Amino acid sequence: MKKLSLIVPCYNEQEALEPFMSEIVRVRELLLPCLLELVFINDGSKDNTLNIIRQLAEEHDFVRFVSFSRNFGKESAIMAGFSMAEGDYVSVMDADLQDPPALLPDMLRAVQVEGYDCAGTRRITRKGDPLIRSAFARVFYRFINVLSSTKIVDGARDYKLLSRKAVNAILSMPEYNRFSKGLYEWIGFRTKWFEYENVERVAGKTKWSFWRLFKYSLEGIVSFTTLPLALASLLGIMCLFVGIIIIILLSVRQIIWHNSVDGWTSMACIVVLLSGVQLFCMGIIGQYLAKMYMEIKRRPHYIIAEKSD
Ligand code: UDP
Ligand code: MG
Repeated sequence: MKKLSLIVPCYNEQEALEPFMSEIVRVRELLLPCLLELVFINDGSKDNTLNIIRQLAEEHDFVRFVSFSRNFGKESAIMAGFSMAEGDYVSVMDADLQDPPALLPDMLRAVQVEGYDCAGTRRITRKGDPLIRSAFARVFYRFINVLSSTKIVDGARDYKLLSRKAVNAILSMPEYNRFSKGLYEWIGFRTKWFEYENVERVAGKTKWSFWRLFKYSLEGIVSFTTLPLALASLLGIMCLFVGIIIIILLSVRQIIWHNSVDGWTSMACIVVLLSGVQLFCMGIIGQYLAKMYMEIKRRPHYIIAEKSD
């Protein structure tokens, strides 16, 4: 019999787990004859999440879990889930019921019967999100899609259902900086998209501060395109070109009229402008260098403190 593994990363989700579990128990019936395996990843929660998960694993025999030694981030949690999952199909779902479990049967059908390798979801509204955050998100998606050849779908959630083939493809990418929205696109395969209205979380609050999202979006840009580096060189070449023209003009002026005492203002402007451009370009190079440094250390993606048997 086929088996579906459901990966659920949890970070401080004590209030959400109970409603989540009752919804899963209800949906599980609808998935038959496919078996369900539930894999919780406790991503170093500081509240009672681990105890609740332990108890759930004791009560239900289809529940397994793994617990990290500290908070490693959602991407690492998903990675751990993928390597633990035993199912023929693997799905990733948030613990806060923002990813409607009721969509699972349809997503499963898309992969199991209709021949897709990936069933993805995207929300068509951002209702409930702060306005500035939605605006930032929209700009980011437009920006990264101009820069990168891997197209990233606006509003795509991490809520996915993958075939074993696609899961193995994801697992074959060992990189440390994981921007999974891009990884799913990069591996290719045919994806069927399911759309739904944004749902607010059932309990608790979001773990993604504006700053954290900003860093995550930088990660996305750095991992999926090197175009900023090319832009930096282009900017350098343009400055050089303008510089050469200015040198020629000034030299001609000096030779013919001998009046080069004034012009301090323009000189100061040029120095400030060029230093700015140089620092900006160095910053871009620095970003890539920093990511390379992290990659080269080859540290594990997560450390496991406890595992269900
Ligand atoms: N999460 C995690 N580690 C983290 C942050 C979040 O495992 O460091 C989990 C979290 O418990 C939830 C999912 O990732 O199940 C999505 O997080 P959240 O709902 O806060 O994000 P949002 O839905 O607001 O984008
Ligand atoms: Mg959420």
